[in-house]
Amino acid sequence: MKRLVIISNRVPPMKTRGRAAAGGLAAGLSSALKAFGGLWFGWSGEVKDTQETKVSTHRQDNYTLATLHLSRENHEEYYNGFANRALWPLCHYRPNLVAYDRSFGVGYYRVNVLFAEAVMPLLEAEDTIWVQDYHLIPLGAELQRLGAKQKMGFFLHIPWPASELVITLPEHRALVRALFAYGVVGFQTDRDVQSFLDYVIREADGALEPDGRVTCFGRTIHVKAFPIGIDAGSIATLATQPEATAHAVRLVDSLAGRQLIIGVDRLDYSKGIDRRFSAYAKLLGKYPEHRAKVSLLQIAPPSRMEVSAYRAMRRELERLLGRINGEFADYDWVPLRYVNKTYNHTALAGLYRTARVAFVTPLRDGMNLVAKEFIAAQDPEDPGVLVLSRFAGAARQLREALIVNPFDEQSMVDALHRGLKMPLEERKSRWRSLMTNVEEHDIDRWRESFLNTLTAA
Ligand code: UDP
Repeated sequence: MKRLVIISNRVPPMKTRGRAAAGGLAAGLSSALKAFGGLWFGWSGEVKDTQETKVSTHRQDNYTLATLHLSRENHEEYYNGFANRALWPLCHYRPNLVAYDRSFGVGYYRVNVLFAEAVMPLLEAEDTIWVQDYHLIPLGAELQRLGAKQKMGFFLHIPWPASELVITLPEHRALVRALFAYGVVGFQTDRDVQSFLDYVIREADGALEPDGRVTCFGRTIHVKAFPIGIDAGSIATLATQPEATAHAVRLVDSLAGRQLIIGVDRLDYSKGIDRRFSAYAKLLGKYPEHRAKVSLLQIAPPSRMEVSAYRAMRRELERLLGRINGEFADYDWVPLRYVNKTYNHTALAGLYRTARVAFVTPLRDGMNLVAKEFIAAQDPEDPGVLVLSRFAGAARQLREALIVNPFDEQSMVDALHRGLKMPLEERKSRWRSLMTNVEEHDIDRWRESFLNTLTAA
């Protein structure tokens, strides 16, 4: 591979803007960019009154960050509209939350064309192009329309839903056809691959080739699962750094000997935080032995507050929080701590390491990196227990977690109880096999296996 070009909705914050909470994905992809040189292109995060087409570039290490701002209209239709009011809820199995308007689809394609036109002059003939996520499904096809001949791959970070849901989207066929512009289409899990193949074969007359590739719309492509991982070593190291320890000490002091259950999620309805709160209240009701002996800390930085479903969920959580603390709290014990703040990975690593149980119960999640980060941050001599929804992609790999069905409250209550009571030896043995998995399937392996498939395609 000569140069790597990554195109995503957002680019990671530039280093010159300070030490931002760069996620594992940004770190994993930028290490590939550092190795090969190249370009990362995406929206700057700025919204302005009008759409200009000027690309700002910034050199970082041996690659270029190139960004474009969005006009208010494009931001509303492409990002808040089609991406976050249509594709996101649909791919997370919530068709009732889809607020579809024809203008969203138009804006979505308009921004994909805008991106293609803006990035096209920056491409070189030998580049390998890797497009990220649901915001940019049509981008590859638009680049080809402009004459791009480079190898192109696409990775979907969120779930691919069942065909019966896909077909509720008016432009479902055009979207799937657009995916066939890429040489490689990657999903998080084999289940997403199965759902995609089901659509291709039953809805679009596609076929599976003997070599495993998939033919449809006159193109034959690779379709595979590439489960994303984390930089396990760096989270493990962070968790014992003085800064992480300082956060852990503050938290331990505040717990006054109580066990900690932790939840860390963007404030998103797909994360099932409301059901999680209710299950915790049931635990306190059903097992009085835990009263005043545990605390649930839910970290939930707000996201997408322009979208009404997110505001409604936030209000509902605040209502539940008041009800649960009102019912169970004592003058010296707050059962449920709810924090709408973003913490950096160092702080999170310290907090994860303090927790006896991580309560990770999305109703649907492409992967869920928090589950993996929690495992990586544990003390091998006294590890915590992961309670994990079967509907997180991570559950396909992390089989030694206590797997729950978030639609079955009792299963969450029982797993919490079991996790809080689990003997040290069982915690250690479960953790060891979970950690082996998290270390083996890390972010480097994810990136390398995708790029190897793409370059060989
Ligand atoms: N995260 C963070 N600070 C916070 C909350 C979350 O840095 O206060 C990070 C978290 O460590 C993880 C990511 O945000 O790396 C969330 O990824 P995940 O796959 O769990 O969920 P997503 O938000 O992508 O749906």
